[in-house]
Amino acid sequence: MPFFIEDQQDILFKLHGKDSDYAENIQFLHTSLEEFISRKVAPRACVNDRDEIFPQDTFHELGQLGFMSIPFAKEYEGLALPFTYYSAALESLGKADAGLALGVAIHGTATDGIAWYASAESKKRHLADLVTGRKIAAFALTEAGSGSDAQALKTSYRYDAGSHEYILNGNKFWITNGMSADVFFVMARAVDGKISSFVVDKSGKGTFQQNPIKDKMGVRSSNTAELIFQDYRIPAYSLVGEEGSGFKYAMRMLNGGRVTIAAWSTGIAQGAYEKLLKYAHERQLFGKKLADLDNTKRELSEMLMEICASRELAYNAAYYKEHKNLAKYASLAKVKATETAVHVAERAIQLAGGYGFIEESKIERHLRDALLGRIGEGANELLKIVVIPRLIYKEFEQKPLTMSW
Ligand SMILES: Cc1cc2nc3c(=O)[nH]c(=O)nc-3n(C[C@H](O)[C@H](O)[C@H](O)COP(=O)(O)OP(=O)(O)OC[C@H]3O[C@@H](n4cnc5c(N)ncnc54)[C@H](O)[C@@H]3O)c2cc1C
Repeated sequence: MPFFIEDQQDILFKLHGKDSDYAENIQFLHTSLEEFISRKVAPRACVNDRDEIFPQDTFHELGQLGFMSIPFAKEYEGLALPFTYYSAALESLGKADAGLALGVAIHGTATDGIAWYASAESKKRHLADLVTGRKIAAFALTEAGSGSDAQALKTSYRYDAGSHEYILNGNKFWITNGMSADVFFVMARAVDGKISSFVVDKSGKGTFQQNPIKDKMGVRSSNTAELIFQDYRIPAYSLVGEEGSGFKYAMRMLNGGRVTIAAWSTGIAQGAYEKLLKYAHERQLFGKKLADLDNTKRELSEMLMEICASRELAYNAAYYKEHKNLAKYASLAKVKATETAVHVAERAIQLAGGYGFIEESKIERHLRDALLGRIGEGANELLKIVVIPRLIYKEFEQKPLTMSW
């Protein structure tokens, strides 16, 4: 399967075709990344999925190639390219190995938060290493008792004025990259209730434990962990931005995260679609090819419509990543693309029949991976029932529709 397809390139051309470095950037996606992903990532995806292996060496190699650096500033060894190129790369990586791609995406979200808000000292210590993938980052908001209701988090912090340290206590759950990360973007609550964010590494004093969460049904080549902090002391410069603004930072980072999950899901859908398309041209039944059945043609058309719509929304959200309406574009793209990935993977299995149902087809993995997209980065129900309507009504209140025709 090609790493980077014409449909992806067409959208990038629409958005960036007039830029002087367009050809060079497309070349980078086509050559450096394509060669590495087809040689090193795709062939290992099944084994990594089966044996729950997070390919950490591959993560670092992707970093060396410049994958994680794509959207970050040159000052931190980034390539300073538009976020859409990063989305395109994530889409392709998601097609090859969605578990590894999830780890890369969450790493990017945490790194983004550090680049936006962290103290100069935290940036000095970590940012260039994160941008280049030498270090791995995790985003730690969720706890066993607070997922969708993220503001109910209980992990606590207090400031020790004597030692100029913050002291963390509590447990984080479901943390992607949690076993292998060097740097953790952690949200915690003070006694007075305010939520703040901290950039945490393993050099603090006290207990910081990482426990693996195993036996996930999908994204099995990502690693997931519970993080336990017990009287874990971290320096004052670990505080991110303003005290009490931690939840606001987390929400802004999640908007960026939703942009990446939209691209990631589009890759999963594209992978399932391509595998079905290929198989439909090989499988014979009733004296003709599966591809020649009217139902197959109709379903492939519907799949392609959904995938193209998802990709448009995903890259559009990426294009507007620094725009005031990001929350809207990111949420719409995330919901659409994650629903598309589940739909396409499920239909691809159905149309491939028994072959789609076994590991060998590699289609069933796409469905297991796709299901995570609907839950993570804001469950789709939360986005559809709370987040998106809130944005619609706010927009309406600001600019009421007084007439319609
Ligand atoms: C593999 C994996 C990786 C993850 N990685 C990370 C990570 O790196 N960092 C991190 O902080 N978290 C991570 N998470 C946590 C993830 O963000 C949460 O699982 C998600 O926010 C949902 O929270 P929950 O699981 O507690 O479900 P709950 O909050 O208990 O929600 C259960 C269900 O209720 C429904 N629901 C939720 N809200 C509403 C609503 N308002 N109205 C109607 N229905 C609703 C949805 O269907 C939802 O799935 C990860 C989770 C998984 C499974």
